[in-house]
Formats: sequence, C-alpha cells, structure tokens
Amino acid sequence: MARKVVVLGEVRDGALRNVSFEAVAAAKTVAEGGEVVGVLVGDSVSALAESFIHHGADRVIVVEEANLKQYTPDGFSQALLAVVEQEQPEGIVLGHTALGKDLAPKVAAKLDSGLISDATGVEAAGGNILFTRPIYSGKAFEKKMATDKLIFATIRPNNIAPLEKDESRGGDVSSLAVQIKDLRTIIKEVVRKASQGVDLSEAKVVVSGGRGVKSKEGFEPLQELANVLGGAVGASRGACDADYCDYSLQIGQTGKVVTPDLYIACGISGAIQHLAGMSNSKVIVAINKDPEANIFKVADYGIVGDLFEVVPMLTEEFKKLKVHS
Ligand code: FAD
Repeated sequence: MARKVVVLGEVRDGALRNVSFEAVAAAKTVAEGGEVVGVLVGDSVSALAESFIHHGADRVIVVEEANLKQYTPDGFSQALLAVVEQEQPEGIVLGHTALGKDLAPKVAAKLDSGLISDATGVEAAGGNILFTRPIYSGKAFEKKMATDKLIFATIRPNNIAPLEKDESRGGDVSSLAVQIKDLRTIIKEVVRKASQGVDLSEAKVVVSGGRGVKSKEGFEPLQELANVLGGAVGASRGACDADYCDYSLQIGQTGKVVTPDLYIACGISGAIQHLAGMSNSKVIVAINKDPEANIFKVADYGIVGDLFEVVPMLTEEFKKLKVHS
C-alpha cells in the first residue's frame, strides 16, 4: 500500500543532521512506493530543502516563523501539526534524538495516534510495516507492527543507512505559513558547552573512558586516539560522577545511546546501565586490567592491560596506518 510519509528534518549548525537522511530512508520503506515529504521548521531553513531532496525526499515543505528560531515543543508541534493537517499523511518519521524524543509523544498525543519509538530497523512485509526496537536495555529486540492508520515512529541514529546522495534529484519546495502562538517557553539564550569535534551521538567511532581513567588528564590519551580515528570521546557514569569529564559525555541508560561502527571502552567495568547505551555498537573493543570485567562479555575484541599503555600504542599504530593508506 503506497503511503504519504512526512519526515521532520533536524537542523544543527545550519545543516541537516545525518539522522534526518536516515529518517528519509526509513520513511521510504514505510511509504512502500508512496511519497516522502520532508518538513523543515525554523526561522531561516529553506536553503536546506535541496539537501533533503538530494537524500531522497520527494518534496519539501518549509515552515518559517520568527518564533521557530529555537526548538520549543509548543512551537515545533504547532508547525508539524499544521503540516499534518494540510498533508493528511499515513506516516510520520522523526529521529530518536533529544528533539525527537521530546516532540514525537506530544504530537502523537495531539493526533490521538500510537508511537513506535527508538526503532533500529524497519521493513515492509505483506502490506504491514514492522519496526525492530531494543527492549530490556538492549538485551533483546522486539518487532512491532504498526496497526494504527497513521504510522508514527522515531528512529535511533546510526542504525538505518541513508540513501546515496544524488544531486541530480529534483523536487518541489513549498512553504506553509503558520502563526506560532501561545508559547509557554521562550529560549532567551543558548549556552553551548565547548565540545571537541565530532558529535557523540552521530560519531562512527567512540572512544570511551571509565573510572579506570582516574583523572581529567587521563582522558587526554583517549581524546588523541579519538582524533586519529575521526571519532568522539564518551564516558561511563563512573567517570562523570568522579568529575573526570562532563555529564554530556555519559553513555548508558541515563545518558546517551550510541551505535557507532567502533566503540573502544577504556577502563570501564561494563555495568548493565552502561551496556544499555553502547552494546549495539557494531564492533566493541574493551581495554581493562581485570580479565573478569563484565565488559569483555559484550566485546568483540578484548585487551587485558593497562589503558595508559595500550591506548597510546593504539594511537601510534593507527597513525602509521593512516600514513600508509
Ligand atoms: P567501575 O565500575 O569502577 O570500573 C572501572 C574499571 O576500570 C574496572 O573494571 C577496572 O578493572 C578498570 N581499570 C582500572 N584501572 C585501569 C587501567 N589502568 N587500565 C585498564 N582498566 C582499568 N553507568 C553508566 O556508565 N551509564 C549510565 O547511563 C548509568 N546509569 C545508571 C542508572 C542507574 C539508575 C544506576 C543505579 C546506575 C547507573 N550507572 C550508569 C552506573 C553503573 O551502575 C556503574 O556504576 C558505572 O557504569 C561504573 O562506571 P565504570 O565502569 O567507569 O567504573
């Protein structure tokens, strides 16, 4: 059954986040040959429509309004609901990001619709759409079939491959005028934590440190390794609680969920709450002094040793490989 599916694009630093392109790919599966409509919400975002189309959106609707400069659940839900009202789609897909996690339940409630959240896979089978999603903190996966008339889902970043960028693709770009009103929150200022380089939730490589890193300075060799691999640094809650790093780096049940191609855990014991945030990484390397550490149970490669010896050695070897490649 061909469906019309709406995808909300997420904008950061003047560009569409990769998860928006992954959402387009998921939406194509949900659409089963129907139309994928990208939606851009902000105060000056229309220039990004082309990029949405190059990554698979058939057309794009832009909602621009001064009150949409910063994300607020009231503002963005009014914008998205106005698009839904106009388009009457059979599907909506958002990224399972901080924004998507906040916005999707609100919009789903307003539409009196169900919501399948945090999907890591989507497939069409015999007219039905099946979503794969992790349960029990990532220990198991379930397949959920959408039975509502409206299929509404959020997808976990880094799990569904985006379509190849095709600059020859064209599509209609239209704007929808929406008057945003009754905002209950107004963002006066955004204070950004200085983050080094790659966005942790979208990084292909994550080098993560635990209490075994022992100090703030102990994170420096991890940052060097991450730099060489073009990755980001993450941490366990143990390291954050000990004030070795900022809580924005925390990975796990109460932190960020990451699914990079490569996760290198350094001095992390592998508590279940940490595994909840990283065990779906494609390849896991664990470095720990304790051969009995739980992290080795989920690791594809384990190195029993002192991280302060192993991490610099890895950095040097990767540097050599980069020189020769
Ligand atoms: P530890 O358990 O102290 O492990 C340190 C490891 O470093 C040890 O295995 C040790 O062998 C190794 N080590 C020490 N020195 C070296 C060295 N020189 N070289 C190599 N290895 C070395 N935790 C999270 O991470 N994320 C969460 O989101 C999270 N949420 C939680 C939510 C709740 C409700 C609760 C109760 C807990 C949560 N936790 C979370 C905490 C979790 O239970 C663990 O306490 C925490 O993950 C432990 O951090 P750690 O592995 O860094 O420290």
